[in-house]
Amino acid sequence: MKNYDQIIRFLRKNVVYRKKPKQTILDWLNQYNDQLKFDKVFNEILKITKSIDKIYPINIASFCNKYLPNKIRIRSDQFLSKSRSCRLNDIFIIFSCVKIEHKKTYIVLTSNHFTNYTKSISSSNSFFTKDFTDLKNWANNVGEISKNEARVRGIGKTTTYLYWHGNENHIEKLSDYLGVLSQIENYAYYLKEKNKKNLRVKISKDTKMEIFNFYNNECALRQINKCITIESQINDNISKHIHHIVPLYYFYDQKIFDDKIINNKNNLILLCFKCHAMLSSHIKLERKKFLDYCLEFMKKANKFIDFQNYLWDDLHITIPILYKIYGVDYE
Ligand SMILES: [Zn+2]
Repeated sequence: MKNYDQIIRFLRKNVVYRKKPKQTILDWLNQYNDQLKFDKVFNEILKITKSIDKIYPINIASFCNKYLPNKIRIRSDQFLSKSRSCRLNDIFIIFSCVKIEHKKTYIVLTSNHFTNYTKSISSSNSFFTKDFTDLKNWANNVGEISKNEARVRGIGKTTTYLYWHGNENHIEKLSDYLGVLSQIENYAYYLKEKNKKNLRVKISKDTKMEIFNFYNNECALRQINKCITIESQINDNISKHIHHIVPLYYFYDQKIFDDKIINNKNNLILLCFKCHAMLSSHIKLERKKFLDYCLEFMKKANKFIDFQNYLWDDLHITIPILYKIYGVDYE
């Protein structure tokens, strides 16, 4: 028996929600509906995509390489091809789950990291490869957002992306991951710094409550952007994110780790996941439009002067510099 046969055997037994080849996503959903209904990770993803068609359940598999018998992989040419043509606000998400030591361990990654993926996708491309022992470690750690690189075969370039791994107890980190979307490089840096300094710069429960109350649990841009859908009215707990108007990566770039400055109420705004995603769009014009919206909102809500004072007093920056931080022009 080859070494990797053991891994194949293990995965055959322990891949959860196995998707059969050629099985449609709806058939897959029907098959596992009773379990998926209660799966926190699956439901968190569904909240973001709002559509089962955007979820790619992919079985983690052995790499089947005799020289690298412990290598495992995720492969989906369809996902890569979709990702390349996807627009922001239209993300696809890989959902992979394997049971290790009786614990469901998940791997989740989003398509927005692959929009610039130039590689041919017809050459059976395993863009996610790991060692089998990594899976075992993940089963016992606290859930993380990690950085990975996919090699662009033939061109020799690499694509950097972030993925989340963890179990159902680490939903908060998963929401972070899904909320971060396109700030790949900066976010990776932020995580590194945060881990290095062992920092906790979470928004306190009290501040969170205050923000949600102030915005009446609604997206601040709901009138300007008309982002409310009937669906989100009915399902009011659809993802809302507290966004840092001066984004987190700026603080880390500037080596500012003071929670009072980062999570200052003047710097926080409640957004629906769509508006949040647009604000970190990789399309400059979209990003600018949504930053304009935020400021427009603050003016209407009489928060603008306080925000300007905050920028100046705490960060010594001005509005045009804020635009610079977002990498967009201020006219
Ligand atoms: Zn919104």
